[in-house]
Amino acid sequence: MKAVLVIGDGMADRPIRELGWKTPLEAARKPSLNQIAKTGICGIMDPISPGLPPGSDTATLALLGYDASKVYSGRGALEAIGSGVKVLPSDVAFRCNFATVDRNLVVLDRRAGRIVNEDATKLAGSLQKIKLKKLLGAKFFFENTIQHRAVLVIRKRGLSTAVSDSDPGEVGEKVSDVKPLDDSSGAKLTAEIVNELMRGFHKILKDHPVNEERAKRGVPPANMILCRGAGTVPNIKPLSQVYGISAACIGATPYVRGVCKAAGMKLIDVKGATGTPQTDFMAKAKATIQALKTNEFVLLHVKATDVASHDGNIEQKIELIEKIDHVLGYVLSNIDLDATHLSVTADHTTSSITRNHEGDPVPIAITGPCVRRDDVEEFDERACAKGGLNRIRGMDLMPILMNLIGKAKKFGA
Ligand SMILES: [Zn+2]
Repeated sequence: MKAVLVIGDGMADRPIRELGWKTPLEAARKPSLNQIAKTGICGIMDPISPGLPPGSDTATLALLGYDASKVYSGRGALEAIGSGVKVLPSDVAFRCNFATVDRNLVVLDRRAGRIVNEDATKLAGSLQKIKLKKLLGAKFFFENTIQHRAVLVIRKRGLSTAVSDSDPGEVGEKVSDVKPLDDSSGAKLTAEIVNELMRGFHKILKDHPVNEERAKRGVPPANMILCRGAGTVPNIKPLSQVYGISAACIGATPYVRGVCKAAGMKLIDVKGATGTPQTDFMAKAKATIQALKTNEFVLLHVKATDVASHDGNIEQKIELIEKIDHVLGYVLSNIDLDATHLSVTADHTTSSITRNHEGDPVPIAITGPCVRRDDVEEFDERACAKGGLNRIRGMDLMPILMNLIGKAKKFGA
C-alpha cells in the first residue's frame, strides 16, 4: 500500500465578497478534487494550532508529522539544503537577496530588478573568493539560487541563530546591522562575522564589472546582499526511521525541498517545475506517478496558489486551483486506487484579501480503499468541515496516512 500527499500551497482562503462570499476553492470548477472528497473522508486541519498563521516551512514540517513547535530551527538552513548547499549541524545559514542600495545603504530594490541567474552566478562567484581579516577563522559558502535569491552558510564552532536580519524588509529603509538577540557569546560572534561579510560583499559588488555592465543596460545594480532567517538544520528523524517508508518529494520551492531533505526524502527534479504560476503542472503529475513506482510515500507540492494569493489575484487563484484539479485527474486515473491512498490539502490558508497567511483551518480529504467514507461531496473549506475526520492538527495527518497504508506501529502490547 502506498500514499500520495498533494499540497496546494496557500490554497485555502476566506469567503470573498466578489465571489458572492464563496472562497476560491468553492468558486473553482474542480471535478477531481470533488471526486476525492466524494469517495473519501474529509475534514478540516489546523496546520499548527487553531488561529495560528503558519509559515510554509513550519506547516510543511507539521504535514510530514513533525512537531514544528519543537523542531523548527529557522528558515535559512532549510532554504540552503533545499538548494543543494551542504549544511552541517553546527553551521548557521541565512536566506539572502541580491539588492540595490544607494550611497547611504538605503534599499532601492530588494530584488535588484529580479536579477537574472547568469549575472547572479558571476557575482556570487566573486563573493565566494573574498578574503576578510576579521572573519575570526570562520568559513563561509555563498551561493545564488533562483534570480535574486541566495543562501549564506557560516561554518565555525560556537555560532548561534539568535541574531537579527540585515534585511530591513522594505524599500526606503537603511540596511540594518546584524545584532545579537541574546547575551550569549555565540550570538555576538555570529553577528560580528555576518556584519564583516556584508561589508566585504558590498565593497566587491559596488564596483563589480557585472554591475557596471548592468548600469549600461539601465537595470539596477546588485550592489548589496541582504540576509535574514538565521537557522540551523532541524534535528529530526528521517521518515524512513519513523515509519519505515521510502519517500520522495516533487516540488521546486527551496524551503519545501529543504524540509523534505531534512526528513530524509528523495528530491526529484522535474524539468519545467519552477514554483511559479507558469510551472509545468503535467510534468509534475507524471513525475508523481513515476516516483510512486519506487517509493511508498510521495509528496507533490504546488507553490503557485500561494503566489496568486499573495498577489491578491483571485481570478488567477481560481485558475490555478483548476490546474491542480487537472493534475489530480491525471494522478487519479494513473494510480492503482485499490492499493494507494491519495490525500489533498493546503499547508495553510492564504487570504487573497489580506494577502497574508492566516490562522484559519484548511480542508483535507483522503481517498483510498481503507478510508471510512463520509457524506461530503465537495472539496472546499465549508463542505469538508462536515467530514468524518472532523478537525485535526497538521502533525496528525502523517500518522493517519501511515495507519491507512499499514505502516503504523502499535502502542502498547
Ligand atoms: Zn505555504
